[in-house]
Amino acid sequence: MIRVTGVQPDSIGDQLGLRVGTELLSVDGRELEDFLDWEFLTAEERFLLYVRQPDGEEIEYDIERPLHEALGVSLEPPRIRRCANRCDFCFVDGLPDGLRDVLYIRDDDYRLSFRYGNFATLTNLKPKDVARIIEFRLSPLYVSVHATDPVVRRYLLRNPTAPEILPQLRHFADHGIEFHTQVVMSPGVNDGDVLRETLADLYAFGSAVIGCSVVPVGLTEFSKHHLVREPTAEECRAALELIDDRAAISRAERGAHWAYGADELYLRAGVELPPAEIYGGFEQVENGVGAVRWLQRQIEAGADELQGWEGRRIGVVTGTAMSRLMPMVLEPLAVHTGARFELIPVVNTLFGASVTTAGLLPGAALQQALAGRHELDLALLPGESVNDSGLFMDDMSFEVLAAAVPMELRLSRDFTDALQLPVPA
Ligand code: SF4
Repeated sequence: MIRVTGVQPDSIGDQLGLRVGTELLSVDGRELEDFLDWEFLTAEERFLLYVRQPDGEEIEYDIERPLHEALGVSLEPPRIRRCANRCDFCFVDGLPDGLRDVLYIRDDDYRLSFRYGNFATLTNLKPKDVARIIEFRLSPLYVSVHATDPVVRRYLLRNPTAPEILPQLRHFADHGIEFHTQVVMSPGVNDGDVLRETLADLYAFGSAVIGCSVVPVGLTEFSKHHLVREPTAEECRAALELIDDRAAISRAERGAHWAYGADELYLRAGVELPPAEIYGGFEQVENGVGAVRWLQRQIEAGADELQGWEGRRIGVVTGTAMSRLMPMVLEPLAVHTGARFELIPVVNTLFGASVTTAGLLPGAALQQALAGRHELDLALLPGESVNDSGLFMDDMSFEVLAAAVPMELRLSRDFTDALQLPVPA
């Protein structure tokens, strides 16, 4: 059963009499469990919908509608699938106490992998889930592989019953499902020969595995440092060599780079980032893979729209990780806009200095960094640093922060989104 949370006026759902609180029970006799059932089972031109209205009345609708016409109902969010693993590097373990409850949820959900590109391990799939992935063709999926060796993978996931990933991927691949894959690299565990073997095993799937990224493990002050550590520069360089070896094979055989290091891996290795061309469609940019090159591309593409900023002073707030790469983005931005950009790296006062990601910065640290900066006309904040309700990690709202600092604030994902808006008076 799925509950309706909103109905668009004049939509088919509205005309049928569906309303907030209506329970969608089945389509063509098949019970509805979540948004996937709803989307896939109502994709036909004609179907039977069985519902229970808030007053308890049960109704069956025989629906026939043009295929392109949406039903116009919003659904309650699905209950998140909890993770069955206990990775030593799990970010949830690295959180301090006292944050929003939702931040402590370890999700590992193939549905969110398909819909939003969240990485899933596939260790908590039931036979019914496997059948759904195949039936609904949930492809591509984003899969955290970490290691193809089952012993190493179970160790990394701290899950002795994790199913072997290669047969799992093979079964799905045989049914036409494709994957973006990642390896979170934990030094001394899944780097070196294990990484080489993992890349080779995944590459052997052919087109079913679209690509594999390698991300260095990131820890906070609260992580299990007695069990896991971050890689050294030398270990990151060694990983990049393995990635380059695999990418060279792939370029020669398939004409695509296929194996990628996260920007963070290059940063830690002290190695220059590769050119934008290697990242294809930037499919793993949300995973920090090719993020700098993607930003540069966005700026080039939107340059003509960035007018009226000549001589303005703009602060660019970021985490300490990106601050070393950001000059590569701000230089072309200054050329295109004529504005003066000042990078403002902010240390994460909530999670500790070792958490360097811009998206995890708390509002209090941003306020401290921007207080008294009257000379700035505008400050750009990382768009991903607030949730859908506009709250930073420490529950400070964007509005509260904006009222507490002397310049206009804008959230931005690629600079062009914020700088295409009118210039502040
Ligand atoms: S798979 Fe590992 S890192 Fe991801 S949520 Fe589960 S325990 Fe945490």
